[in-house]
Amino acid sequence: MSIQSEIKINQFQLALLLDESDKDFFKCSIAHNVYCLNCRDVAKNGIDITELYLTEFNDIRVHGRCKICNCEVRRLFEFGEEDKFNNKDKKLRKSIQAS
Ligand SMILES: [Zn+2]
Repeated sequence: MSIQSEIKINQFQLALLLDESDKDFFKCSIAHNVYCLNCRDVAKNGIDITELYLTEFNDIRVHGRCKICNCEVRRLFEFGEEDKFNNKDKKLRKSIQAS
């Protein structure tokens, strides 16, 4: 696997990468399964997403804020290992680099 850099993506670009079951999983995780260090619990009301990154390993890293306490939270979604994106990530990287 060649070394690629981490890129910032928006929610529209994320939606292009994920298939339907991934989207469900992603939504569900954002709503119920992001740990907030400040609350010392999962962010029960979910989080507001502030930034999204496609990492060099093709994982998705989400930065956001806990809707209860407004503290920063992060969560890594490991999609990269299964080569899940079927080269969709490569197209996206190209289009972003070209713009
Ligand atoms: Zn919190």
